[in-house]
Amino acid sequence: MTKRIFRSVLTSTLAVLAMSVALITIVLNNQFIKMEKSQLAVQTELAAAGVNSEGQAYLDALQPDGYRVTWIATDGSVLYDSEVDASTMENHREREEFKQALANGVGSAERESDTVATKTMYYAMRLDDSSVIRVAVTRSTVGLMLVRMISALIWIVIAAIAASILIARSLSRQIVEPLNHLDLDHPLDHRQYDEIAPLLVRIDRQNHQINDQMNELHQKKKEFETVTGSIREGLILLNKDREILSMNPAAYTIFSAPKESEGKDILTICRDEEFSELVNSALKHEQAETIIEMNHRQIRVDASPITSHGILTGVSILAWDISDEYAAEQQRREFTANVSHELKTPLQSIMGSAELLEDHLVKPQDQDAFLHKIRTESSRLLSLIDDIIQLSQLDDIKQVDETKVNLKDLVSEAGEALEQSADEHHVKMTLNLENADVMANDRLMYEIVYNLMDNAIRYNKDPGTITVTTKVDKGKPTVIVSDTGIGIPKESQSRVFERFYRVDKSHSRKTGGTGLGLSIVKHAVQLCHGTITLDSKVGEGSTFTVRFNQTA
Ligand code: ADP
Repeated sequence: MTKRIFRSVLTSTLAVLAMSVALITIVLNNQFIKMEKSQLAVQTELAAAGVNSEGQAYLDALQPDGYRVTWIATDGSVLYDSEVDASTMENHREREEFKQALANGVGSAERESDTVATKTMYYAMRLDDSSVIRVAVTRSTVGLMLVRMISALIWIVIAAIAASILIARSLSRQIVEPLNHLDLDHPLDHRQYDEIAPLLVRIDRQNHQINDQMNELHQKKKEFETVTGSIREGLILLNKDREILSMNPAAYTIFSAPKESEGKDILTICRDEEFSELVNSALKHEQAETIIEMNHRQIRVDASPITSHGILTGVSILAWDISDEYAAEQQRREFTANVSHELKTPLQSIMGSAELLEDHLVKPQDQDAFLHKIRTESSRLLSLIDDIIQLSQLDDIKQVDETKVNLKDLVSEAGEALEQSADEHHVKMTLNLENADVMANDRLMYEIVYNLMDNAIRYNKDPGTITVTTKVDKGKPTVIVSDTGIGIPKESQSRVFERFYRVDKSHSRKTGGTGLGLSIVKHAVQLCHGTITLDSKVGEGSTFTVRFNQTA
C-alpha cells in the first residue's frame, strides 16, 4: 500500500509540476511578447517622430540597440536600413505591416525566420510624407529558449523529481502509519480517518460475528470432547494430509500415543503397515477395517472417509481393543479342538475293545480285562462329558443364586465323599475347620472344594497327607487345601488353570483326570466373588488358597 501511495503521489506531483511549468512558461512568454510589442511600438513612434522632424539625419545618427530600423518609401522601395545596405534590399510593397501602415497609419506583423528558430516582430508607422518607418526586433522562439536553457532545465527537473520523491515518501508514510497501527481487535477506537470509518465499523461487526462463531465452535468442541472422551473406543480424526486433527483419550491409550500428537502425521503413532494401507484406502474414498497388534493387544481398526459435497476432507478412525474377545475366540477354538481329541481317545479305546470281543479275538481269560477297560474308559468319557457340560454351563452363567454357605460343613461333606478315594491312595486327610460363612452359590462352592481336595489326593505321594483349613483370614472366609504331593513346576503353575492343561498327561489320565478340574474351579471362584492362589514346590507339595470377598 505504501508503494502504491508513493507512486500515486509522485506521479501526481510530477504531473502538477510539469503542468505548472508549462503554464507559467506560456503565460510568461505571452507577457514578454506583449511587453516587447509595446516597446516596439514606442521605439517606432520615437523613430517616426525623429524622421518626421530631422529626416535622413536622424537615421544617420541613430544607433539602434537590438532594433532594426527600416525607412520605406511610399512605393515600397527601401530608403534606409540600420543593418543592411538599403539599395540591396527588395521592394517591401507587399509586406503586411507596410500595407497596414499605409492604409491605417500603423501596422504590425510577425514572421518566423527560415533558418534559425527565431521570430521577428515588425511595427510600422506612416510618416508625414506618406513614407513608412518600420522597427523590427528579432527574438528566439520558446523552443529555442528551452534548448538554450537545457542544462539548467535538467538540473531543475532533477531537483523537482528529488523533491517530489521526498514529498511522496513522507506523504505516503504519513498516510499509512496510522493504518499500520490500527488495533483491528478494537477498530472503533481509531478515528484518524473519517473516510475509513465505515470499514472500521464493518470490521468491528465482523469481529463480533467471528467471536460469536468462535464461542459456538468452542462450545461444540467441548461437547464433542465430552462425548468422545467418555467412549471406550478410540476415535481419531485426520485431515486429507493424514495429519491428526483430534484424538480422544481412549485413542491415546490404545495407541500409547505421546502427548499432543495432534497436528502430527498419523504414522507417528502407529507404523503398522496394514494400518497405513487402511488409512490410504480411506483416503481413496474406501471404507476399510482390519485387526492390528499394538503392545501385544489385538486392536480392531475401522477407517472411513469423511466427505463434504463429494469431496474428501479427511478420515475418521475408530479403534477398539478386542484382545479379550480375540483370546476368548482363540480359547474357544482350542477348546473345541481339545474336546474332540479328548472324546476320541476313550471312544477309540472302547470301540477297539468292543470289536475284539465281538470278533471273538479275545481269549476267554482276557475278556474280563477288556470289559474292565471298556467300563473305565466309559466312566472317563462320562466324567469328561460331565466336566465339559459343567464348564459350558459356567461359561453361560452371568449370575447365580447365592445363599449362606458354611465352609466348615462344605469341607466336611466333600471329605466324606472323598474318604474312599483317600484310602485307596493311602492319603491321610486332616481337616482344621473353623466356622466361616460365605455368601455364594452352594453348588459352585462344593465344586471348588471337592475338585481341590480330589486333586490333592490324586496328585499325592503314596503314602501322603492332605490338610484342609477353613478360617476367616483378615475378614475374608478362606479355604486352604494343602498336600504333600508331587508338586507343580514353576513354569506350569500359571497354566494349570487352562482347559485341558496337564503337567503330566499320563499321570492325570491314570488317576481319571480330565484336565478340566482346575478350569472349573477358577471359573467357579470368579462366580463366587473370590480369588485363588497357588503355592507349590516340585516333590514337596502344593497349597491352593481360596479367599472369598462376600461374607454372609
Ligand atoms: P486333571 O483332571 O488332569 O486333574 P486339573 O485341571 O484338575 O486336571 O489339573 C490340571 C493339572 O494340574 C493336572 O493335570 C496336574 O498336572 C496339575 N495339578 C492339579 N492339582 C495338583 C496338585 N494338587 N498337585 C500336583 N499337581 C496338580
